[in-house]
Amino acid sequence: VTTGAPVVDGPRLWHSLQELAAVGATRAGGVSRVALTPEDVAGRALVGRWLRDLGGLHHRDEVGNDFWRFGPPDGQPIMIGSHLDTQPNGGAFDGALGVLAGVEVMRTLADHDLPLEVPLELVNWTDEEGARFGMSCIGSSVYAGDLSLEDAYSLTDADGVSFGEALRQAGLAPAAAYPHPAPALYVEVHIEQARVLERQGRPLGLVTGIQSVRWLNARLSGAQTHAGTTPLDERRDAMLAAARVIDLVDSVARASGPEARGAACRLHASPNTGSVIADRVDLLIDLRHPTEAVVAEMHSRLQDEAARIAAAVGVRCTIDPLWTQPALTFDRRAVEALDRALRKLGLTAPRMVSRAGHDAGYVSLVAPSAMLFVRCRAGISHAPDEHAEPDDVELAANALLQLVLDQAGPPPRS
Ligand SMILES: [Zn+2]
Repeated sequence: VTTGAPVVDGPRLWHSLQELAAVGATRAGGVSRVALTPEDVAGRALVGRWLRDLGGLHHRDEVGNDFWRFGPPDGQPIMIGSHLDTQPNGGAFDGALGVLAGVEVMRTLADHDLPLEVPLELVNWTDEEGARFGMSCIGSSVYAGDLSLEDAYSLTDADGVSFGEALRQAGLAPAAAYPHPAPALYVEVHIEQARVLERQGRPLGLVTGIQSVRWLNARLSGAQTHAGTTPLDERRDAMLAAARVIDLVDSVARASGPEARGAACRLHASPNTGSVIADRVDLLIDLRHPTEAVVAEMHSRLQDEAARIAAAVGVRCTIDPLWTQPALTFDRRAVEALDRALRKLGLTAPRMVSRAGHDAGYVSLVAPSAMLFVRCRAGISHAPDEHAEPDDVELAANALLQLVLDQAGPPPRS
C-alpha cells in the first residue's frame, strides 16, 4: 500500500448506506424503494442532494436514469454507479452499494482536493429490479438501445399503470434526452448475491461476465376427463406429464455440470380443478449456464426427452422459447483496469461469472464494462437480512477510488 494515498472514509460510507436504507424502511427491517414509487423518488432526492453538494451536474434521461457529472464539462466520461430501486421488502445493499460507493469516491476526491482530468459520471439506473413492470434493467437496456423507449413506456404494472405514466406521476419525466457520448469505461460495484466469495473467504470478486439465461414454455396437451371414472391406462394426463418434465429439467441440469442451473419456475394448469384430469399444463422453464453452448445443449436435450416422456403417457409436449439473454463476456481491458486498481491496493480478487443479470450487462453493449462483487452474508439478497461487512464495503470503495484515480485523476505526484 502506497503511503499518503487517499483512502475512503469507511464509517461515512456505512452511515450513508444506513441513511438511504431509512428511506422506504419496512416494519420487517427491510427496504422498499420499488421503481417509480414515492420511496424511489425520495431515495433519488437524498442521493441527489449529496451529489449536488459535491458539485455534480445532474441530468436525467427520458427513461429516468440519473447522471451526475463531475470534472471537465465535455468529453467522454468514465462512468460508475448502479441502481437505487429495491425489491419490495428488499435489502440495504443491492444496488445502493454501487451508487453510494461512487458518492464516497466523490467525497474523498473533494476531501483531498483532487481534480478530475477526465469527466466522471455517477449513474442511477431506473428500475433494475423489475419488481413492478415485469422486466428488469429497464433504464440500462433503453440506454444501451436494447429496448426501445416506446416499448419501455408501454410496459404496465399490476394495476395497469404504464411505465411512461408512472414516470410522469413520479415527476421524473424529462423534457428531452440527455445527449452524451457512451463512457470510455463503466464500472459497477455490487453485492455478490451468492456464496462463492464467502465460501472462498475472499471479500471481493472480479466479474468477467454474466451467464446465459433461457426461458422456455413447455406445453403439455392431454385430454380433460373424469378423475374418478377414467381408468389409469386410458388417461392422457397433462399434469402427470408435467411432473415428469419438471423432474427431467432437474436431471438435465445436474447432468450438465456444476455450473448449470435448471428449474421449472411456474405452472399453469387447465382446467385446474378437483375431479378433473388436466388437459393442458404450461411450464415456464429457466435454464442457465456461463457458456451459451451448454444452455443450447440443455435446451435440445429437453426438447427430445420431454417429448418422449410425455408421449409415454399419451400427452403431446411442445417447447417454445419465451425469452433469452445470451451469455455475456465483459471487455477484457475493463476487467484488467479494475484488476490493476485492486493490485495497487495489494489486493487480489478471484475471477467469476455473475449468476444474476445486472445493469452492467446492458451497458457493456455500448461501452467497455466490468463489475466488482462484494461478499455478502450467506449469499442472501432481495430480503431484509441482506448484509455486507463494513470492512468489505470499505475495501470495494477503495478499489473504486483507485480505479477512478487511475482513469480520471490527476497525474501521480512524485
Ligand atoms: Zn442489483
